[in-house]
Amino acid sequence: MKWSCQQLLFLFAVVIFAAHGEIDKKWMKDALQSHFSQPRHHATYPKYKMRAMRFIRDEFREYGLETHLDTFNTRLQTVSGINVIGVLKGKHFNTDDDVIVGVAAHYDTMRDTSGVDDNGAAVVAMLQAAKKVASEPPRNNTVIFAAFDLEEWEDAGFRGYMQNCYHKRCDTMERVTDSMIEFAAKTSRALAATVNQMAPTLPNVNSGHQTFPEVVILFWVVFLAMLPM
Ligand SMILES: [Zn+2]
Repeated sequence: MKWSCQQLLFLFAVVIFAAHGEIDKKWMKDALQSHFSQPRHHATYPKYKMRAMRFIRDEFREYGLETHLDTFNTRLQTVSGINVIGVLKGKHFNTDDDVIVGVAAHYDTMRDTSGVDDNGAAVVAMLQAAKKVASEPPRNNTVIFAAFDLEEWEDAGFRGYMQNCYHKRCDTMERVTDSMIEFAAKTSRALAATVNQMAPTLPNVNSGHQTFPEVVILFWVVFLAMLPM
C-alpha cells in the first residue's frame, strides 16, 4: 500500500494526539463490557473477579506504574482479598517531603450484582486517569492508584437500600448510556486534573509544552510532507 502525504499526516496526527493521553471513551465502554459487567464476588463468581483483578494489574503495568498485589486477610479464615496498587513515584518518594496523592475505586461487587456502575465505572475512570497522569512529565509528589477488593462486605447494614433497589435491578450493562460514559470520562479528566493540582508536574526543560518525542514526530511530519509522492 502506498501512503499519500495526507494519510501520513493523519497518521502522525493520531500519534501526537495519543501521546497527549486523552480520555478514551470507547475504551472505557469496551473495558466495562468485557471486565466489569458480571458479578465479581469471592464466593459466587471468583473467576471473573480474578480476571478483573489481573486486567487492572496489567493495565497499571502497561502505564509504567510500579504495580503491587496487596493480599490481606479478613475475619473469615477462608476469605482473603487482593488490592491492586499502582505507584507513580515522585521525586520526593521515600522522603519526608513526599505528600502522597491517592486515587481509589473498588473492583468487587455484591454476591450477584453486575456492578457496572458500582464500581466498575469508577475503576475504568481511574484507569484512564492513571494512564493520562503516568504519561505526563515527572512530579515531586508520589501518586498511588488503588483498586480495592472486598469493599462490598455484605453485613454493612446501611447498604440495604442499595442492595435491594439499586444493585439487583439497575446496575447492568443494558442501562449504560452514552451520557453515562460521557460522565465517566468527565470523572476521569477531573481525577487527572485533581492529581495534577495536588502533585503538579515539574517544569519541562524543553521549550514550551512539547516533550522530546513529540518534537521529533513533528519534525518528521514536516519532512515527509515535503517529499514528492
Ligand atoms: Zn460500591
